[in-house]
Amino acid sequence: MNFDLTDDQRAIQDAVGTICADFDDDYWLRKDREGGFPEDFYGAMAKAGWLGIAMPQEYGGAGLGIFEACLMLEAVSGSGAGMSGASAIHMNVFGLHPVVVHGNDEQKRRWLPPIIQGEAKACFGVTEPNTGLNTLKLKTMAVRKGDHYVVNGQKIWTSTAQVAHKILLLVRTTPVEESKGTHGLTLFYTDLNRSRIEVREIEKMGRKAVDSNQIFIDNLEIPVEDRIGEEGKGFSYILHGLNPERCLLAAEATGLGRVALRRAARYAGERIVFDRPIGKNQGIQHPLAERWVDLEAGTLMYRRAAWLYDQGRECGAEANAAKFFCAEAGFRAAEQAILTHGGMGYAKEYHVERYFREAMLPRLAPVSTQLILSFIAEKVLGLPKSY
Ligand SMILES: Cc1cc2nc3c(=O)[nH]c(=O)nc-3n(C[C@H](O)[C@H](O)[C@H](O)COP(=O)(O)OP(=O)(O)OC[C@H]3O[C@@H](n4cnc5c(N)ncnc54)[C@H](O)[C@@H]3O)c2cc1C
Repeated sequence: MNFDLTDDQRAIQDAVGTICADFDDDYWLRKDREGGFPEDFYGAMAKAGWLGIAMPQEYGGAGLGIFEACLMLEAVSGSGAGMSGASAIHMNVFGLHPVVVHGNDEQKRRWLPPIIQGEAKACFGVTEPNTGLNTLKLKTMAVRKGDHYVVNGQKIWTSTAQVAHKILLLVRTTPVEESKGTHGLTLFYTDLNRSRIEVREIEKMGRKAVDSNQIFIDNLEIPVEDRIGEEGKGFSYILHGLNPERCLLAAEATGLGRVALRRAARYAGERIVFDRPIGKNQGIQHPLAERWVDLEAGTLMYRRAAWLYDQGRECGAEANAAKFFCAEAGFRAAEQAILTHGGMGYAKEYHVERYFREAMLPRLAPVSTQLILSFIAEKVLGLPKSY
């Protein structure tokens, strides 16, 4: 067993770190205050070819694994870009996974190169206001009319819909009462036609640079050639991408925890109270050391889950466990970073309050802590399904 990263993997961390160094904490603080998509950061990552890290080489990607994509996103988040930086590119890096696996050749040629090159931005419309985590009950309906579908309904929390050109959209094609098991939902990748889709931004706690929205879909026509795979099988196509997505979120949360911890340790070494650095007190040291232990454990967990996925092996329990653990570890590190800064932890100029707000996000999305624990209780511990 070898826990070392390869030279190539370390080179990914270094190269991504070099790009991120041009977008420092003050840049992200400004974005956090003013909002507005971080186009210059996105453009720099696209130009250097990082958006296609895990995409097939024949469409311009690098063809690497989820493991490498995790290293990249941990480096982005850990630079201080946090969830703002990671979420700005997350959809390009991984969102079109259902197209890679289930799209036809024509669709891949049409859709993948623009996403890999950063020319197109896409958003992901799954969550609905009235069905929440119970995705199988979602209500937005697509009705087939000859060579196209007509879609009506609502989505919520659709991130980047203010700036996206395309939408990956999961909708119902069979009424819920006639659907059996996971059948009845269909997946499309289509133009975000603003004359038929109204996008309303949600004011939220953090990650202001990457908008999240309510969207209202009114008689949107989607050509049949924008349907991914077969009608009715959309949910199973989404399921395919859930485990790698959890690994990526776990890596992003870990990066955020690490940058919070770095800042906390630096402040603890510099801040003098009672004639000595506060970091000389074990009451300051020990919680920080504990947070480091958590982040190390989380790193091992997400890397093992990503490695299993890349080997083509089952990784549901491991990916869910990693997402759960890393989200909590990242959050606790950010919280401890604020406490270490004392009053200054509450001031924006020290950045840790921004990390703290952003560290809530991996705990909530794309799946909640409770549902992960319910999954593990059922699938690993053999307890009755509770949801
Ligand atoms: C900033 C942000 C960005 C997002 N971006 C996107 C996006 O781009 N695209 C998209 O489709 N979605 C997006 N989401 C939505 C996100 O995936 C959902 O918020 C998340 O899946 C939870 O769904 P919900 O908010 O409807 O919670 P609900 O389903 O309403 O659940 C509320 C609470 O009840 C708990 N709960 C519900 N049922 C059970 C049960 N049976 N047992 C135990 N607990 C239960 C949940 O765990 C949760 O704590 C985003 C969310 C946020 C906050």
